[in-house]
Amino acid sequence: MKCIMCKRGETKPGVTSVLLTRDDFTLVMRDVPAEICEVCGEDYIEGEVAKRLYNMAEEIQHQGTLIDVRRYQTTSEVSCPVEG
Ligand SMILES: [Zn+2]
Repeated sequence: MKCIMCKRGETKPGVTSVLLTRDDFTLVMRDVPAEICEVCGEDYIEGEVAKRLYNMAEEIQHQGTLIDVRRYQTTSEVSCPVEG
């Protein structure tokens, strides 16, 4: 697709690193699948992937972690945490 940031480049499938912060918790997720602009380097992450990132961040934060670096895995299932 056409890049909306620079309006010149075309995006290509690739991977990027995402930094998520929430309160005093920081998560770095590597190898996140995204569409990357070949001109300006802007990355576009799919809604489903972004949603999953936030869920993972929430789960890790609940474990009391302050900073974590993970590798995004497309194959493993994310289990829904059971309330209570
Ligand atoms: Zn661009």
